[in-house]
Amino acid sequence: MNQEILIPGDQPVSENTVMKKSGLALFSLGMLFFLISFTSVTKFSPVLFFILSIILPCAGALMFFTAQLKGSLPGVKKNNIQFLSATNRGLIGWTVAVFLTGMYILIYWFPELLENLIRIFDPLSYTFNGHPANQWFLYGTLYTIAVLVMGVRMIVHNRHNKYQIIRTFSVMFFQLVLAYLIPMFIQNGFFFTYFWPLKQDYLFPSSYEYLVKSGGLGMFMFFWAAVMTFIATPVLTYFYGKRWYCSWVCGCGAMAETLGDPYRQNSDKSLTSWKIERWMVNSVLLIITVITALIWIDSANKNFMLGEFAHTANKWYAFFISAMFAGVIGVGFYPLMGARVWCRFGCPMAAVLGIFQKFFSRFRITVNGGQCISCGNCSTFCEMGIDVKSYAQRGQNVIRASCVGCGVCSEVCPRGVLRLENGPVEGRYELNNEYLR
Ligand code: SF4
Ligand code: SF4
Repeated sequence: MNQEILIPGDQPVSENTVMKKSGLALFSLGMLFFLISFTSVTKFSPVLFFILSIILPCAGALMFFTAQLKGSLPGVKKNNIQFLSATNRGLIGWTVAVFLTGMYILIYWFPELLENLIRIFDPLSYTFNGHPANQWFLYGTLYTIAVLVMGVRMIVHNRHNKYQIIRTFSVMFFQLVLAYLIPMFIQNGFFFTYFWPLKQDYLFPSSYEYLVKSGGLGMFMFFWAAVMTFIATPVLTYFYGKRWYCSWVCGCGAMAETLGDPYRQNSDKSLTSWKIERWMVNSVLLIITVITALIWIDSANKNFMLGEFAHTANKWYAFFISAMFAGVIGVGFYPLMGARVWCRFGCPMAAVLGIFQKFFSRFRITVNGGQCISCGNCSTFCEMGIDVKSYAQRGQNVIRASCVGCGVCSEVCPRGVLRLENGPVEGRYELNNEYLR
């Protein structure tokens, strides 16, 4: 007899499982076609292989997430996450890490090996900009698809939490419209959602000359980059903390908050990693500040003073920091080190925002320490490796340069101890000891 197990308020488990398995099967089949698309068989029909290797796995993943929506009550869904091979550095986790790392290496340095895969994107590329696809079109499209599909998962998993829903829609919107569609039409290599020092060359003299010469839009883009760096960044961080950028706008944050969400518990929470994080992220900021200054000095002296030194330094920076660190390690290591490896240890923009957040911001996570039962959920799921529990136990507001205001610590707290707030700058470092009395 076929018995159905019913949980109050839920769909029949059998229906839910069939839909999940079908989604998983479609996804697996699509990924198989994705691998086949590395071969010349794609010449048979690029459109067909685009459907089979891109649309099919997306449809499978969406079907799987929809099954989760139908088959469960709203609420925090992190059961067993630390026991699964995919999310606890098991075989599946390592396989995903090798796949992501491998894709980055191929796209950055061996695009010729992706030739057949790139060709299946030609029809889409011609539709958008009239040119055949190249490795950057492939990269941008896959990146945006990953953010959108995994964004749906994030919304399904967090549908009880308005903050998470709005925040996820925000990163999906900024990635799709401002970091993918608009740059594709403008085609001058600039994005409205990235600023110096994350995109270091946006404020280089060469960018100034290129953009200003290219007409009104170019002038506006240079003006936009300068205003966002020198005015909007400090002002918005003063009012809202670094979350306005890291968890609502930034493309790296968009990927971390969607594709990286299943791995947030893998971030290192030790004091040693905190020390390393501060040294590394601030060193990267210092290096790119010096390089930028040297390039401007050099430009003002018509390259007589430093010769090629500053430009060579920038090339090394672009290779080691922008490509190896932000790309290959930053995304490829999600399943091993959590989703914010780059944001914690390498991003110079995060360093700037962190300095403002720590010393001149209204943002803090307030703590009702008397309610804390020391379960440790908040620390476990902090993607930035912050030991939130230790603050809660002391009744001390969480004010950390690295906090991106994702709100997940507050969401997973079973006692409502933590609240993300913007308030007066004065007194935010004081202990809330009255809660502990
Ligand atoms: S402390 Fe909370 S809000 Fe800040 S990064 Fe960690 S989980 Fe997100
Ligand atoms: S999740 Fe809440 S109750 Fe648990 S340790 Fe953190 S603050 Fe305390």
